[in-house]
Amino acid sequence: MNYNHKILVIGAGIAGPMICYWLKKYGFDPTLIERSEQLRTGGYAIDIRGIAVDVVKKMGIYDDIYAKRTSLLSKRYVDADGQTLSEEHGEKASFREDNDVEIVRGELVNILLQAIPDVPCHFHKEITSLTQKDQSVEVTFKDGHIGCYDLVIAADGLHSSTRKMTFSNEDCQLFNLGSYISIFSMPNYLHLNRTEVSFVKDQKFIGMNSDKNSDRALVCFLFRAKKVLSGIANERGQKKCLRDLFYDLGWESNNILDLINDSDDFYFDSIAQIKMDSWTKGRVALLGDAGYCASPLSGQGTNLAIVGAYILAGELKSVEGDYSVAFKRYNELMRSVVDASQDLGAWVQESYLPEGEASKEIIEQRSSVIIEKIKVVSNAISLPDYV
Ligand SMILES: Cc1cc2nc3c(=O)[nH]c(=O)nc-3n(C[C@H](O)[C@H](O)[C@H](O)COP(=O)(O)OP(=O)(O)OC[C@H]3O[C@@H](n4cnc5c(N)ncnc54)[C@H](O)[C@@H]3O)c2cc1C
Repeated sequence: MNYNHKILVIGAGIAGPMICYWLKKYGFDPTLIERSEQLRTGGYAIDIRGIAVDVVKKMGIYDDIYAKRTSLLSKRYVDADGQTLSEEHGEKASFREDNDVEIVRGELVNILLQAIPDVPCHFHKEITSLTQKDQSVEVTFKDGHIGCYDLVIAADGLHSSTRKMTFSNEDCQLFNLGSYISIFSMPNYLHLNRTEVSFVKDQKFIGMNSDKNSDRALVCFLFRAKKVLSGIANERGQKKCLRDLFYDLGWESNNILDLINDSDDFYFDSIAQIKMDSWTKGRVALLGDAGYCASPLSGQGTNLAIVGAYILAGELKSVEGDYSVAFKRYNELMRSVVDASQDLGAWVQESYLPEGEASKEIIEQRSSVIIEKIKVVSNAISLPDYV
């Protein structure tokens, strides 16, 4: 018999549905809420590596993920004139080994939601306040409705509002690594066929790939900024910022910028990490990017969300819902893998944005180092067996 079984999980990204799966399996009673009106199907591709692969295998969804995986045949770097500097097979160039797999984020969320048919999941729902009481957590939903839960698990991403409601500024640091990323889709006017092309110059990166949908290409801009940028509060300002920085950089920069308004999924954010000494406070626990975002450049965010969910649910199960014990163990067990992932994120940023133009030697040397680092970090924790 579990105590504290009524659990509100906030955010239906990766971490939220993941923990609902394990909580339900262990006899808890989770409810999942998500701010968006519906599941967003597309997005960028994310990796499941190392021990996170073991978790999705335990859930029996690895084959579904594998069937929907991305499958780039080639990745190449070009110079400012579009001449190829280096070219590798897609899997190798993405640093994947063994059973590691890459999948578009929306496809993975869809598979995860299908794995929890018996968990109530409410889209277009969010909370506006949260009050911790001795025996429960009281939340007010945006529609005015009040709910009472034994525990709240916040899996609402890098800019988690639940984190801001629960933790003080002293408890949490949003640490900007000093660069910005923008990702959006556009017509595949270069007719890339399961190919990614990248160009780096003066600490600015442009990548473009097209995978299964040959009509569309996904573009990524990444750049270093010595100080926090202003004038980027809205999409208009963000696009102007990209035009100012990337116009005349070389390769396809100008053609891509000319098509930037052709996207309906424009994403722009600083590259940031969340640093905290503890991811829990009272009856509230942070999970995934909400608690320990390692930055998109670490390639570990999905792993952390998957492994964190497995461990948090497993520890709650081990002590039949005694959250003070389970939360302490969760903090202890996750610390080393979170720190290693965040170190990796910072290192990748430095190595991906060199001064001047990247050479074949720089690209190849970086690849051999990064594959080793990723292997270590993706396996930087042993999975406890909770079943
Ligand atoms: C551009 C980009 C590229 C990336 N590339 C990679 C990669 O190559 N490899 C990799 O492993 N990781 C990558 N990541 C990171 C990866 O996407 C995240 O680490 C991972 O999705 C974390 O999952 P999460 O569930 O913690 O958060 P998220 O996936 O961000 O999910 C949070 C969910 O909470 C919802 N939400 C937010 N606020 C509220 C609220 N107030 N109430 C209710 N719901 C709310 C959001 O709509 C969202 O659905 C990338 C991230 C970005 C942004």
